[in-house]
Amino acid sequence: MKSEERQILAALDSIDTTALLRELIAIPSAVGNEGQLAKVIGEMLRVDGFDVRYQDVEGARRNVIGTFRFPRSGPCLMFNGHLDTVAPATDWKGDPLTAEVHNGRLHGLGALDMKGGIASSLTACKALISSGIPFRGSIMFSGVIDEEGYSSGARALVEQGLDAVDGIIIGEPCAGTKANPIPALTPGKVLYRLTVEGVQAHGFMPQEGVNAVEEAARIIAALDQLPQLEHPKLGNGPVSTLKITGGYEEYAVVVPDRCEAIISRMIVPGETSKGCKADLEALIASLKLDARATVEMVPPYYAPLETDRSAKLFRVFEEVYADEYDRPPTYGTSVVITDASVFSGLGGIPTLVFGPSGGSIHQANEYVDLASLAACTKTYALTAVRFLNHSPEGESHD
Ligand SMILES: [Zn+2]
Repeated sequence: MKSEERQILAALDSIDTTALLRELIAIPSAVGNEGQLAKVIGEMLRVDGFDVRYQDVEGARRNVIGTFRFPRSGPCLMFNGHLDTVAPATDWKGDPLTAEVHNGRLHGLGALDMKGGIASSLTACKALISSGIPFRGSIMFSGVIDEEGYSSGARALVEQGLDAVDGIIIGEPCAGTKANPIPALTPGKVLYRLTVEGVQAHGFMPQEGVNAVEEAARIIAALDQLPQLEHPKLGNGPVSTLKITGGYEEYAVVVPDRCEAIISRMIVPGETSKGCKADLEALIASLKLDARATVEMVPPYYAPLETDRSAKLFRVFEEVYADEYDRPPTYGTSVVITDASVFSGLGGIPTLVFGPSGGSIHQANEYVDLASLAACTKTYALTAVRFLNHSPEGESHD
């Protein structure tokens, strides 16, 4: 191990990641209410020496973005985390916002998803900066809103431009084990809004009208005929009708003239939003309905993601991981869609999803395993050191 890596490990030892995590958990940040957490993290980053700015995404909902530039020019590594948690389950024992440690597990709302990963990222960044080593390039931390919703925070970040960013690490709880692999292949999803317009009539004289609800039912019953690609690992994506509305608001014997349905479809590499729209339109045309049916693609849209592991970030990470865990990381398919689909799929930036492990995600008494939190923090810090030191000529800087 090079001397500067030893310096980083010493710097890590002086930072209390668990205390930091407790502090993050104490700030409520259920999806839609990320403002206070963005502010607190912004303040932490500022104290560490980052240039901090906020990005308004939706009303008072803001992303927080910190950038720290080392003295020499070089690559930029961004750590990312979503600020939002889900709402606490009703069967929590104790206060979800007061972290409690039992048997090496820290319990608290968002401990695993994903304030643990954020605490590790912030600690790793702090260690790099406080070491005083003149690394090349820059490190960033971005905290984004709405991952549990529409990923509007990550989308806004990509739209604003991340051209300077060479790699992103998202601290979601993917440990790189067989049971919990690092996602290398993730399906995407599209959402259809189907609107069926018929002709209103008296319910005793249906032949005078066109029943929009019944016509919509014919389409929904035929969804299993949608042409779908078969992917060797992901199969073909499930199609589910999530919602259907139509008919009277106040009881009346009236043939409904309008029906709307929301249909979700998981997509695999090779399938696109445009293609999915055409598939459903062709299916509708084949049914020769009397009603008029229109198909719109509505947010959120996620492209399927095949991770390109040839990127430098992955090579560096795999080296560090193998040293820390005495085995290579395991990659796999994941049906859980994260902001990586936005950063990599939409932004084209190599994105690694790796974080601490634990359990009860989105459930009562969610926890992170503190030993895994420490190992993860160390892996982040050393990955960053080697990533920043890496230069195209392959020269090393001790
Ligand atoms: Zn998450």
